[in-house]
Amino acid sequence: MAIGAMFGDIFKSLFKRPVTELYPFQRKPAPEHLRGKLIWDPGKCSGCQLCIKDCPANAIELIVLDKVAKKFVMRYHEDRCTFCAQCVQSCRFGCLQMSSQEWELAQLERKPFEVYYGKDEDVQFLLERAARAETGDAECGA
Ligand code: SF4
Ligand code: SF4
Repeated sequence: MAIGAMFGDIFKSLFKRPVTELYPFQRKPAPEHLRGKLIWDPGKCSGCQLCIKDCPANAIELIVLDKVAKKFVMRYHEDRCTFCAQCVQSCRFGCLQMSSQEWELAQLERKPFEVYYGKDEDVQFLLERAARAETGDAECGA
């Protein structure tokens, strides 16, 4: 392109608003079908584990506390998830969906990338059990 032709474009651009968006200060609504964070509803979960088997990224685990009483906790590794929605397709009971509202998932530390879903008391029980196991390991190693 000739240098002279460029001056025309430069001059015109002086009177135009920038096309870049000032994210995160200005936000547009997320598209309706955006595949954001995976959400699990334990209410209808049968514990069949099909979602776990079909996940290509090994991003979800179902921890069975009591199969008869259907007490399950799902551990979701956001940092492994490829947001492919295969698990959503695989679940015959409609327990899984991908949020179009929760998609800003960046974190400064790795730990918050682990999300636990389930009843509060079940998640609490699991976390306490893991903490006890860690303390026990540390004491054994000392
Ligand atoms: S969206 Fe894909 S990668 Fe993420 S948990 Fe589901 S199956 Fe696994
Ligand atoms: S596929 Fe559905 S019902 Fe089966 S374990 Fe996963 S969430 Fe539960």
